[in-house]
Amino acid sequence: MEMKMYSYIALLVPAVLLFSSLQVDGAEWSYVIGEENGPDNWGTVFPDYCSKSKQSPINIVSESAEHRNIGDFTLVGFGSTAPTDARMKAENNGHTVEVELAGGDYLVSEGGLSAAYKAVQFHFHWGNVNTVGSEHTVDGKQYPAEVHIVCYNTEEQSLTDAAGEEDGLTVLGFLIDIQDEDNPAFEPLFDAFSGIQFHGDHVDLATPLIFGDMFPSDLSSFYRYSGSLTTPTCNEVVVWNVFTNPILISQAQMDMFRSLNQNGLGDAVNETYVDTFRPVQPLNGRTVYLNDLDAPPSGSGSFISPLTLGSVVTFVLATVLLK
Ligand SMILES: [Zn+2]
Repeated sequence: MEMKMYSYIALLVPAVLLFSSLQVDGAEWSYVIGEENGPDNWGTVFPDYCSKSKQSPINIVSESAEHRNIGDFTLVGFGSTAPTDARMKAENNGHTVEVELAGGDYLVSEGGLSAAYKAVQFHFHWGNVNTVGSEHTVDGKQYPAEVHIVCYNTEEQSLTDAAGEEDGLTVLGFLIDIQDEDNPAFEPLFDAFSGIQFHGDHVDLATPLIFGDMFPSDLSSFYRYSGSLTTPTCNEVVVWNVFTNPILISQAQMDMFRSLNQNGLGDAVNETYVDTFRPVQPLNGRTVYLNDLDAPPSGSGSFISPLTLGSVVTFVLATVLLK
């Protein structure tokens, strides 16, 4: 039993390293299809999770999504001002640009979540052209980029513990599309890009990003399903939220992502990142829900909510009494 437990913990270590924001070994896996460690071989190279049946990302079929009144999120720290002591550190980690939330409380609760979740980092996935880039697709449409805000269940002692639990993590996922104007909310991040041109570079943002300015105004419309990390070791521990309204940035801002190098400073050849996304995975019978505040409550076995049932009883009583 002890041996088994030990192996289990050992399996979690790569994911923990990944989410610790600091120690990622860029040599272990790649996004290049056909490469030995590329996404089509992750299931073989990382068989413990990457070959399982609840993997992410997925293609969301909007017509098949079950409408449920999951409820709105309660967000702390994501408004129009940064929380006290907010501090953000950007890093080029060899797979993506990742921003660690190094100070301040960013909390997500309600919205059908079983607990409060604490955001620890966000990172981006993008393509080399605008027709590819996002991880999730909607009705087969892939967006130019996607941002993931990674949060862990505060009922667990740590991120490490949470990465081993079924509902240990929740990710706020936003598709990113192109608009004519720059999105000023991203300025603190793009201002830092000169300091993270190469793998291993990291820099403190001069001021924290203000999520309230970055997010679309309506956060009540989102898809919800159970899935996994989209990078090895692909742990199936993520309650996914993919918002239906995209975040908008300009083409010039999109091109900033494409200017980053995946190699270290001083390497013989400079290589910019190419298509930093995992292809969509089979749904395998999972249900995708769409938060719809007019639909029956989440988890309700029937389509009659207690309120509706109460109204029916009142109506019947009233009818009887009036006769
Ligand atoms: Zn991601």
